[in-house]
Amino acid sequence: MSERLRVNWIACEAHGLCAELFPEHIALDDWGYPVIADRPVAPELLDHARRAIDACPTLALRLERVGREAAGRSREASGRSPRRGV
Ligand code: SF4
Repeated sequence: MSERLRVNWIACEAHGLCAELFPEHIALDDWGYPVIADRPVAPELLDHARRAIDACPTLALRLERVGREAAGRSREASGRSPRRGV
């Protein structure tokens, strides 16, 4: 089980605070919107991630658990089957 950062793009207002607080996983694009690293947050960095989440003025950041169970739900929702490898 691991956790990844997710952004609610509707709520995000490009304040950029998250990138200042958690540069290990968040960069900013040219417009100030976050670019999230495409990898799970290492356990030793979860406190930093939570600090960035708590500081977001629009509550646009969150941690999402990913693992076998979550991956299976995601495949079911998308209609993809792991057996077909699609
Ligand atoms: S701090 Fe929140 S609102 Fe600002 S860029 Fe990050 S996610 Fe978006």
